[in-house]
Amino acid sequence: MKLSYKELSRENASFEGTHSFTEGDFSVEVKNYQADFVPTDAGVYLDLRFDYEFKAPCDKCIAETTGFGSERSGVQFLEQLKDVSSEAELKDDDMGTVYVEDDVIELDDIIRQEVIFYLPLKMTCGDDCRGLCPKCGENLNIGSCKCEQDADPRWTALKDIKKN
Ligand SMILES: [Zn+2]
Ligand SMILES: [Zn+2]
Repeated sequence: MKLSYKELSRENASFEGTHSFTEGDFSVEVKNYQADFVPTDAGVYLDLRFDYEFKAPCDKCIAETTGFGSERSGVQFLEQLKDVSSEAELKDDDMGTVYVEDDVIELDDIIRQEVIFYLPLKMTCGDDCRGLCPKCGENLNIGSCKCEQDADPRWTALKDIKKN
């Protein structure tokens, strides 16, 4: 959704909706967002609230894993001065400030950027995930593989003692 910075800097405006996107291994569904724009002395402030669900393969066993989140963040929009930079795109300086050029605020891009900030770097299906066997690739959460039998003979000896 493309919004006009000039219009938003004149009066309050609110938008709500949903948005889906993928980012690397993550597929993200913003189930619901509420975007409240408020004019400020400097520009436009966005109060953004969103509920989202994301799916990604477990980092250890590659099983699909789901996560949820509900966050609120603020973004300050300022007008990009033409002679300062020739960059045509929205620029984020990691301080929650976005410089707007050509009067366009692309709301979907802003939502994506804010949600990505909250995604974990790595997903695991659980703290007790045993991962895949490095030899045969068997998922050790589901069952043990044959490779164990070729392991250190002392291990095998120990197991035999346990069995008896
Ligand atoms: Zn796992
Ligand atoms: Zn194995």
